[in-house]
Amino acid sequence: MSHYTRLVTFALVLFCCHRTFAQSGELYRYQDLSHIFYQKQIDSLKKVWVCPNIYKEKATQKQYKEYWDDRTEFVTKSIKDDNFLYEKEVYGYIDSLINQIVQANKQLIPVKPLVLIDRSAVVNAYAMGGNILAINLGLVAFSRSREDLALTIAHELSHNIMLHPENGLKQRAEWITSDEYKNAMNAVLDQKYERLTRLKKIFQGYSFSRSRHQRYHESDADSLAIVLLKKSNIGFDPSFFLRLDSADLQFKQPLKQPLQQYFAAYNVTIDNAWTQKRAKGLSTRAYSFKDSTSRVQDSLKTHPDCVDRYNKTLALGNVKNNFTPIPAAIKEKAKKMQLWNMYVNMNLTACMYTILMEKDKGNTDPWYDFMAGNVITGLYYADRDLSRFNAVGVVPKEFISKDYYELQTLFEQIPREKLEEISKTLLTAHAWPNIKKDEAAFHRLMKSLTTESDISQSNKTNIGKTFINSNENSLYAEFAHKFDKP
Ligand SMILES: [Zn+2]
Repeated sequence: MSHYTRLVTFALVLFCCHRTFAQSGELYRYQDLSHIFYQKQIDSLKKVWVCPNIYKEKATQKQYKEYWDDRTEFVTKSIKDDNFLYEKEVYGYIDSLINQIVQANKQLIPVKPLVLIDRSAVVNAYAMGGNILAINLGLVAFSRSREDLALTIAHELSHNIMLHPENGLKQRAEWITSDEYKNAMNAVLDQKYERLTRLKKIFQGYSFSRSRHQRYHESDADSLAIVLLKKSNIGFDPSFFLRLDSADLQFKQPLKQPLQQYFAAYNVTIDNAWTQKRAKGLSTRAYSFKDSTSRVQDSLKTHPDCVDRYNKTLALGNVKNNFTPIPAAIKEKAKKMQLWNMYVNMNLTACMYTILMEKDKGNTDPWYDFMAGNVITGLYYADRDLSRFNAVGVVPKEFISKDYYELQTLFEQIPREKLEEISKTLLTAHAWPNIKKDEAAFHRLMKSLTTESDISQSNKTNIGKTFINSNENSLYAEFAHKFDKP
């Protein structure tokens, strides 16, 4: 089968199963998680993604196939691990945007790519090659306009069009099996001393040439993206690159009120002492929390040099266009879905801080209060499970605000008895008058997990089953399914 036919077949199989599903008032269904929704794709992907035979040199071909299969494994594992989900509205919005770009650029994009919604809150999208594209929920929540989103999508489409992911696999295989690499490695092995230093030099040389390639690739992808957008009649605002530059500083944003006040709204009293690090190890005072807008180090970004990209594309921008804001309902869904994702991964400080930032924006949706309650009871559950430290999810100080640091410290230091007491208060039924059926059931689940004296695995499995039996479609079933396997 030619590469092209393979892609067509793949796309067909992939798009057959997108059913429409309307349900009122719920975010998405448990069955929309990728391990169920894209289950068939796992098999078709394995069948369709056959490594092409391109190298005469056996060792290179073998290495190439290994990298190729690693990628297939990465994608299928991500699907199985529920890194993606299919939510009709957000998917539909992105899909219509991609349709517009694909329709207008048929020659460059003969086959519509498979688009996956990644649940991550990181502001990013990524091309995986093989005509697959992933858009993070974080990007949807962060983008202001349809055009902002289109710019990132067009950039990633460009990586796929220019076969950057595929070429990356080839380059790695060629380098690892090259004489240059082999000789360098042999030289290291012959050396009795300073092997590590020489080894480091080899890898430094390689990653330097890779990062240089990377830069060219980024610039090429930006240029092609602008062409794709022009043909699609979609304007673009280069200043989006500048906003992108500050995207990973979200948790550096301070809160509008002292922490105590947010908790007071839930009738929870926070002792000031819990938010201050006890004087062991590094003192807090030694660290200055100047609000810095300075850039976080480049290595954390997939796309460094945002300012550079801004300058390069400035003249080509089309800021006069009336940009279309992303519908509030879409952004809200994206935000909620990524919040639940943080929760189910037990990334509790980030989850709570995100809720408090929503409060600062004047968001009064009771769902965020429901989630705030879950964070506290989740923390208590984690404490009983001896995994409180993991659930706090400590973030290094340079990436967070003073308020975030205090919340993180609070979650680390709040005494267990206090946590138990607050958890009990928050889980009383009368505190939640208008709660939905599955939300109430989720509270019962958390109550069982935190109050029953038997915390054996088998009892947790039973507690999980009780929830799933009457709420199998609920998105909260994902948490209950954590206890499925011993
Ligand atoms: Zn890129």
